[in-house]
Amino acid sequence: MTTKTKTVLSGIRPTGQLHLGNYFGALKNFVQMQYDARCYFFIADYHALTTHPDPAHLHENIRNVLAEYLAAGLDPEVATIYVQSDLPQTAEMSLLLSMHAYVGELERTASFKDKIRKQPENVNAGLLCYPVLMASDILIHRADYVPVGKDQEQHLEMTRKYARRFNTMYGEEFFSEPQPYNFGQELARIPGLDGSGKMGKSEGNGIFLSDSDDAIRKKVMRAVTDAGPVAGEAMSEPVANIFTIMKLVSTPEVYDDFMNRHNEGTIRYGDLKKQLAEDIITVVAPIRERIEAIRGDNEYLHKVLARGAEQAAESADTTVRRVREIMGIRPF
Ligand code: ATP
Ligand code: MG
Repeated sequence: MTTKTKTVLSGIRPTGQLHLGNYFGALKNFVQMQYDARCYFFIADYHALTTHPDPAHLHENIRNVLAEYLAAGLDPEVATIYVQSDLPQTAEMSLLLSMHAYVGELERTASFKDKIRKQPENVNAGLLCYPVLMASDILIHRADYVPVGKDQEQHLEMTRKYARRFNTMYGEEFFSEPQPYNFGQELARIPGLDGSGKMGKSEGNGIFLSDSDDAIRKKVMRAVTDAGPVAGEAMSEPVANIFTIMKLVSTPEVYDDFMNRHNEGTIRYGDLKKQLAEDIITVVAPIRERIEAIRGDNEYLHKVLARGAEQAAESADTTVRRVREIMGIRPF
Protein backbone atom coordinates (compact mmCIF):
# COMPACT_ATOMS: atom_id res chain seq x y z
CA MET A 1 0.00 0.00 0.00
CA THR A 2 1.44 3.39 -0.85
CA THR A 3 -1.14 5.86 0.39
CA LYS A 4 -1.93 5.35 4.02
CA THR A 5 -5.70 5.44 4.42
CA LYS A 6 -6.00 3.79 7.83
CA THR A 7 -4.84 4.97 11.22
CA VAL A 8 -3.29 2.64 13.77
CA LEU A 9 -2.53 3.34 17.40
CA SER A 10 -1.04 1.30 20.18
CA GLY A 11 1.01 1.76 23.31
CA ILE A 12 3.02 -0.06 25.92
CA ARG A 13 3.24 0.84 29.59
CA PRO A 14 6.73 1.76 30.83
CA THR A 15 6.43 -0.62 33.79
CA GLY A 16 9.58 -2.63 33.14
CA GLN A 17 11.61 -4.17 30.37
CA LEU A 18 9.78 -5.52 27.35
CA HIS A 19 9.45 -9.27 27.07
CA LEU A 20 8.50 -11.88 24.49
CA GLY A 21 4.80 -11.32 25.23
CA ASN A 22 5.07 -7.63 24.38
CA TYR A 23 7.11 -8.49 21.31
CA PHE A 24 4.84 -11.14 19.81
CA GLY A 25 1.61 -9.66 21.19
CA ALA A 26 2.33 -6.10 20.15
CA LEU A 27 5.69 -4.80 18.98
CA LYS A 28 6.27 -7.17 16.09
CA ASN A 29 2.89 -6.18 14.69
CA PHE A 30 3.70 -2.49 15.15
CA VAL A 31 6.81 -2.88 13.06
CA GLN A 32 4.93 -4.62 10.27
CA MET A 33 2.09 -2.13 10.27
CA GLN A 34 4.10 1.07 10.14
CA TYR A 35 4.57 0.85 6.40
CA ASP A 36 0.90 0.23 5.61
CA ALA A 37 -0.93 2.66 7.87
CA ARG A 38 -0.60 6.04 9.54
CA CYS A 39 0.82 4.78 12.83
CA TYR A 40 0.98 6.26 16.31
CA PHE A 41 2.95 4.27 18.87
CA PHE A 42 3.22 5.69 22.32
CA ILE A 43 4.75 5.00 25.70
CA ALA A 44 1.87 4.89 28.17
CA ASP A 45 3.32 6.65 31.20
CA TYR A 46 -0.04 7.90 32.55
CA HIS A 47 -1.23 4.30 32.48
CA ALA A 48 1.91 3.16 34.28
CA LEU A 49 1.13 5.50 37.18
CA THR A 50 -1.94 3.44 38.07
CA THR A 51 0.25 0.57 39.25
CA HIS A 52 3.89 1.76 39.23
CA PRO A 53 4.04 5.18 40.93
CA ASP A 54 7.83 5.28 41.64
CA PRO A 55 9.16 8.39 39.77
CA ALA A 56 12.75 7.16 39.36
CA HIS A 57 11.68 3.84 37.86
CA LEU A 58 9.12 5.45 35.61
CA HIS A 59 11.70 7.80 34.19
CA GLU A 60 14.19 5.03 33.47
CA ASN A 61 11.54 2.74 32.04
CA ILE A 62 10.41 5.37 29.54
CA ARG A 63 13.93 5.46 28.18
CA ASN A 64 14.07 1.66 28.06
CA VAL A 65 10.79 1.23 26.23
CA LEU A 66 11.75 3.91 23.73
CA ALA A 67 15.09 2.21 23.05
CA GLU A 68 13.28 -1.12 22.77
CA TYR A 69 10.72 0.28 20.32
CA LEU A 70 13.50 1.58 18.11
CA ALA A 71 15.62 -1.55 18.47
CA ALA A 72 12.71 -3.76 17.45
CA GLY A 73 12.42 -1.80 14.21
CA LEU A 74 10.02 1.09 14.73
CA ASP A 75 11.18 3.90 12.48
CA PRO A 76 10.55 7.47 13.68
CA GLU A 77 10.72 8.64 10.05
CA VAL A 78 7.79 6.38 9.24
CA ALA A 79 5.66 6.14 12.40
CA THR A 80 4.86 8.70 15.09
CA ILE A 81 6.49 7.65 18.36
CA TYR A 82 5.65 9.67 21.46
CA VAL A 83 5.26 9.65 25.22
CA GLN A 84 1.62 9.79 26.37
CA SER A 85 2.20 12.64 28.83
CA ASP A 86 3.87 14.72 26.10
CA LEU A 87 0.35 14.90 24.68
CA PRO A 88 -1.65 16.61 27.46
CA GLN A 89 -4.65 16.71 25.10
CA THR A 90 -5.09 13.08 26.16
CA ALA A 91 -5.99 14.22 29.67
CA GLU A 92 -8.67 16.59 28.42
CA MET A 93 -10.05 13.97 26.09
CA SER A 94 -10.19 11.51 28.98
CA LEU A 95 -12.14 13.98 31.12
CA LEU A 96 -14.64 14.64 28.34
CA LEU A 97 -15.03 10.94 27.57
CA SER A 98 -15.50 10.04 31.24
CA MET A 99 -18.94 11.69 30.99
CA HIS A 100 -19.87 8.77 28.74
CA ALA A 101 -18.48 5.99 30.91
CA TYR A 102 -20.59 4.43 33.64
CA VAL A 103 -19.02 3.53 36.96
CA GLY A 104 -20.78 0.14 37.05
CA GLU A 105 -19.20 -0.87 33.74
CA LEU A 106 -15.79 0.24 34.89
CA GLU A 107 -16.10 -1.73 38.10
CA ARG A 108 -16.94 -4.88 36.16
CA THR A 109 -13.85 -4.69 33.93
CA ALA A 110 -11.74 -7.83 34.26
CA SER A 111 -8.45 -5.93 34.50
CA PHE A 112 -9.82 -3.70 37.28
CA LYS A 113 -10.94 -6.71 39.31
CA ASP A 114 -7.57 -8.31 38.71
CA LYS A 115 -5.60 -5.22 39.71
CA ILE A 116 -7.54 -4.56 42.91
CA ARG A 117 -6.83 -8.13 43.94
CA LYS A 118 -3.14 -7.55 43.29
CA GLN A 119 -2.83 -4.14 44.95
CA PRO A 120 -5.62 -3.88 47.55
CA GLU A 121 -3.65 -1.12 49.30
CA ASN A 122 -3.81 1.16 46.24
CA VAL A 123 -7.22 0.99 44.57
CA ASN A 124 -6.88 4.42 42.99
CA ALA A 125 -9.43 6.08 40.72
CA GLY A 126 -6.91 5.92 37.88
CA LEU A 127 -7.18 2.13 37.92
CA LEU A 128 -10.95 2.35 37.67
CA CYS A 129 -10.79 4.85 34.80
CA TYR A 130 -8.07 3.00 32.89
CA PRO A 131 -10.45 2.01 30.06
CA VAL A 132 -11.51 5.65 29.63
CA LEU A 133 -7.92 6.79 29.33
CA MET A 134 -7.20 3.99 26.88
CA ALA A 135 -10.25 4.94 24.82
CA SER A 136 -8.95 8.52 24.79
CA ASP A 137 -5.55 7.43 23.51
CA ILE A 138 -7.25 5.62 20.66
CA LEU A 139 -10.06 7.99 19.79
CA ILE A 140 -7.88 11.10 19.97
CA HIS A 141 -6.23 9.97 16.71
CA ARG A 142 -9.49 8.44 15.52
CA ALA A 143 -7.66 5.15 15.01
CA ASP A 144 -9.14 2.36 12.89
CA TYR A 145 -6.96 -0.45 14.18
CA VAL A 146 -5.32 -1.18 17.50
CA PRO A 147 -2.71 -3.94 17.51
CA VAL A 148 -2.86 -5.36 21.04
CA GLY A 149 -2.62 -8.72 22.72
CA LYS A 150 -5.61 -10.74 23.86
CA ASP A 151 -5.39 -9.28 27.37
CA GLN A 152 -6.56 -5.92 25.98
CA GLU A 153 -9.61 -7.21 24.08
CA GLN A 154 -12.13 -6.09 26.68
CA HIS A 155 -10.68 -2.58 26.92
CA LEU A 156 -11.00 -2.21 23.18
CA GLU A 157 -14.60 -3.38 23.32
CA MET A 158 -15.22 -0.60 25.84
CA THR A 159 -13.60 1.92 23.51
CA ARG A 160 -16.05 0.89 20.80
CA LYS A 161 -18.90 1.27 23.24
CA TYR A 162 -17.85 4.82 24.16
CA ALA A 163 -17.45 5.71 20.48
CA ARG A 164 -20.98 4.42 19.72
CA ARG A 165 -22.42 6.13 22.76
CA PHE A 166 -20.83 9.43 21.79
CA ASN A 167 -22.07 9.19 18.21
CA THR A 168 -25.60 8.28 19.30
CA MET A 169 -25.81 10.96 21.96
CA TYR A 170 -24.79 13.78 19.64
CA GLY A 171 -26.35 12.37 16.46
CA GLU A 172 -23.13 12.48 14.49
CA GLU A 173 -20.96 9.62 13.21
CA PHE A 174 -17.80 11.27 14.49
CA PHE A 175 -15.85 8.31 15.81
CA SER A 176 -15.41 5.07 13.90
CA GLU A 177 -15.17 1.89 15.95
CA PRO A 178 -11.55 0.78 16.28
CA GLN A 179 -10.84 -2.88 15.64
CA PRO A 180 -8.22 -5.12 17.28
CA TYR A 181 -5.47 -6.19 14.96
CA ASN A 182 -2.94 -8.95 14.69
CA PHE A 183 -1.14 -9.85 11.51
CA GLY A 184 -3.06 -12.72 9.99
CA GLN A 185 -3.51 -14.67 13.22
CA GLU A 186 -5.63 -14.76 16.29
CA LEU A 187 -4.70 -12.36 19.05
CA ALA A 188 -1.60 -13.70 20.71
CA ARG A 189 -1.35 -14.51 24.38
CA ILE A 190 2.16 -15.46 25.38
CA PRO A 191 2.30 -17.50 28.56
CA GLY A 192 4.99 -17.33 31.20
CA LEU A 193 7.27 -20.32 31.74
CA ASP A 194 6.27 -20.54 35.39
CA GLY A 195 3.42 -22.96 34.84
CA SER A 196 0.36 -20.81 34.29
CA GLY A 197 -0.77 -17.33 33.37
CA LYS A 198 0.52 -14.76 30.91
CA MET A 199 4.01 -13.41 30.62
CA GLY A 200 3.91 -9.87 32.03
CA LYS A 201 6.26 -7.09 33.00
CA SER A 202 4.71 -7.06 36.44
CA GLU A 203 4.51 -10.85 36.81
CA GLY A 204 8.21 -11.48 37.39
CA ASN A 205 8.22 -14.15 34.68
CA GLY A 206 9.49 -12.25 31.64
CA ILE A 207 12.05 -13.31 29.10
CA PHE A 208 13.25 -9.85 28.18
CA LEU A 209 14.41 -8.44 24.87
CA SER A 210 17.43 -7.13 26.78
CA ASP A 211 18.31 -10.49 28.38
CA SER A 212 21.77 -11.94 27.72
CA ASP A 213 22.03 -15.31 26.01
CA ASP A 214 22.94 -16.91 29.32
CA ALA A 215 20.04 -15.30 31.16
CA ILE A 216 17.69 -16.68 28.51
CA ARG A 217 19.19 -20.18 28.81
CA LYS A 218 18.85 -20.08 32.59
CA LYS A 219 15.24 -18.91 32.48
CA VAL A 220 14.20 -21.47 29.90
CA MET A 221 15.97 -24.36 31.63
CA ARG A 222 14.05 -23.46 34.80
CA ALA A 223 10.69 -23.61 32.99
CA VAL A 224 8.05 -25.68 34.78
CA THR A 225 7.14 -28.99 33.07
CA ASP A 226 5.44 -32.16 34.30
CA ALA A 227 6.42 -35.77 35.09
CA GLY A 228 6.15 -36.73 31.41
CA PRO A 229 3.38 -37.26 28.87
CA VAL A 230 0.67 -39.78 29.76
CA ALA A 231 -0.92 -41.70 26.86
CA GLY A 232 -4.51 -40.62 26.26
CA GLU A 233 -4.27 -37.53 28.43
CA ALA A 234 -4.22 -33.94 27.26
CA MET A 235 -0.94 -32.05 27.41
CA SER A 236 -0.45 -30.30 30.76
CA GLU A 237 -0.62 -26.50 30.85
CA PRO A 238 3.06 -25.86 31.66
CA VAL A 239 4.21 -28.03 28.74
CA ALA A 240 1.59 -26.53 26.42
CA ASN A 241 3.00 -23.12 27.34
CA ILE A 242 6.47 -24.17 26.22
CA PHE A 243 5.03 -25.31 22.90
CA THR A 244 3.13 -22.02 22.51
CA ILE A 245 6.39 -20.10 22.66
CA MET A 246 8.17 -22.64 20.49
CA LYS A 247 5.57 -22.13 17.78
CA LEU A 248 6.56 -18.45 17.63
CA VAL A 249 10.35 -18.74 17.67
CA SER A 250 11.21 -22.14 16.14
CA THR A 251 10.83 -23.44 12.60
CA PRO A 252 7.69 -25.49 11.84
CA GLU A 253 9.92 -28.58 11.39
CA VAL A 254 11.43 -28.24 14.85
CA TYR A 255 8.02 -27.61 16.39
CA ASP A 256 6.45 -30.63 14.65
CA ASP A 257 9.36 -32.85 15.57
CA PHE A 258 9.03 -32.10 19.30
CA MET A 259 5.26 -32.32 19.13
CA ASN A 260 5.54 -35.80 17.57
CA ARG A 261 7.99 -36.87 20.23
CA HIS A 262 5.53 -35.65 22.86
CA ASN A 263 2.67 -37.56 21.27
CA GLU A 264 4.79 -40.72 21.06
CA GLY A 265 5.85 -40.32 24.67
CA THR A 266 9.57 -40.20 23.82
CA ILE A 267 10.15 -36.53 24.49
CA ARG A 268 12.90 -35.38 26.83
CA TYR A 269 11.98 -32.04 28.31
CA GLY A 270 15.66 -31.12 28.71
CA ASP A 271 16.09 -31.33 24.92
CA LEU A 272 12.89 -29.37 24.35
CA LYS A 273 14.09 -26.56 26.60
CA LYS A 274 17.59 -26.48 25.11
CA GLN A 275 16.16 -26.10 21.64
CA LEU A 276 13.67 -23.46 22.79
CA ALA A 277 16.40 -21.43 24.48
CA GLU A 278 18.55 -21.35 21.34
CA ASP A 279 15.62 -20.38 19.15
CA ILE A 280 14.62 -17.57 21.53
CA ILE A 281 18.22 -16.34 21.48
CA THR A 282 18.13 -16.18 17.68
CA VAL A 283 15.19 -13.76 17.92
CA VAL A 284 16.35 -11.76 20.92
CA ALA A 285 20.14 -11.34 20.44
CA PRO A 286 20.03 -8.92 17.48
CA ILE A 287 17.35 -6.82 19.20
CA ARG A 288 19.38 -6.73 22.43
CA GLU A 289 22.46 -5.55 20.57
CA ARG A 290 20.50 -2.67 19.06
CA ILE A 291 18.97 -1.76 22.45
CA GLU A 292 22.47 -1.47 23.89
CA ALA A 293 23.57 0.76 21.04
CA ILE A 294 20.56 3.12 21.29
CA ARG A 295 19.86 3.31 25.04
CA GLY A 296 22.60 5.78 25.91
CA ASP A 297 22.15 8.10 22.94
CA ASN A 298 20.30 10.91 24.69
CA GLU A 299 20.45 13.30 21.81
CA TYR A 300 18.87 10.85 19.41
CA LEU A 301 16.20 9.76 21.90
CA HIS A 302 15.22 13.36 22.61
CA LYS A 303 15.02 14.15 18.93
CA VAL A 304 12.73 11.20 18.32
CA LEU A 305 10.39 12.22 21.14
CA ALA A 306 10.28 15.91 20.23
CA ARG A 307 9.33 15.08 16.67
CA GLY A 308 6.78 12.50 17.83
CA ALA A 309 5.12 14.90 20.28
CA GLU A 310 4.75 17.51 17.59
CA GLN A 311 3.18 15.11 15.10
CA ALA A 312 0.87 13.57 17.69
CA ALA A 313 -0.30 17.02 18.82
CA GLU A 314 -1.40 17.92 15.30
CA SER A 315 -3.76 14.99 15.13
CA ALA A 316 -4.93 15.29 18.76
CA ASP A 317 -5.68 19.02 18.56
CA THR A 318 -7.97 18.51 15.60
CA THR A 319 -9.96 15.81 17.41
CA VAL A 320 -10.21 17.56 20.78
CA ARG A 321 -11.32 20.81 19.15
CA ARG A 322 -14.15 18.98 17.39
CA VAL A 323 -15.13 16.99 20.49
CA ARG A 324 -15.37 20.21 22.50
CA GLU A 325 -17.57 21.74 19.83
CA ILE A 326 -19.79 18.68 19.55
CA MET A 327 -20.22 18.52 23.34
CA GLY A 328 -21.15 22.19 23.48
CA ILE A 329 -17.95 23.64 24.93
CA ARG A 330 -17.40 26.57 22.58
CA PRO A 331 -15.82 29.93 22.94
CA PHE A 332 -18.28 32.81 22.74
P1 ATP B 1 2.15 -5.07 33.01
O1 ATP B 1 2.41 -6.42 33.65
O2 ATP B 1 2.86 -3.95 33.70
O3 ATP B 1 0.71 -4.78 32.74
P2 ATP B 1 2.46 -6.08 30.38
O4 ATP B 1 3.60 -7.01 30.18
O5 ATP B 1 1.10 -6.64 30.52
O6 ATP B 1 2.86 -5.14 31.60
P3 ATP B 1 1.48 -3.86 28.84
O7 ATP B 1 2.27 -2.61 28.78
O8 ATP B 1 0.31 -3.93 29.76
O9 ATP B 1 2.49 -5.05 29.18
O10 ATP B 1 1.01 -4.25 27.39
C1 ATP B 1 1.71 -3.83 26.23
C2 ATP B 1 1.24 -4.62 25.04
O11 ATP B 1 1.77 -5.94 25.12
C3 ATP B 1 -0.27 -4.74 24.93
O12 ATP B 1 -0.62 -4.65 23.57
C4 ATP B 1 -0.54 -6.13 25.43
O13 ATP B 1 -1.69 -6.69 24.82
C5 ATP B 1 0.71 -6.87 24.99
N1 ATP B 1 1.01 -7.99 25.87
C6 ATP B 1 1.42 -7.92 27.15
N2 ATP B 1 1.62 -9.15 27.66
C7 ATP B 1 1.31 -10.02 26.66
C8 ATP B 1 1.33 -11.44 26.55
N3 ATP B 1 1.72 -12.21 27.55
N4 ATP B 1 0.94 -11.98 25.37
C9 ATP B 1 0.58 -11.20 24.35
N5 ATP B 1 0.54 -9.86 24.37
C10 ATP B 1 0.91 -9.27 25.52
MG1 MG C 1 -0.63 -5.38 31.06
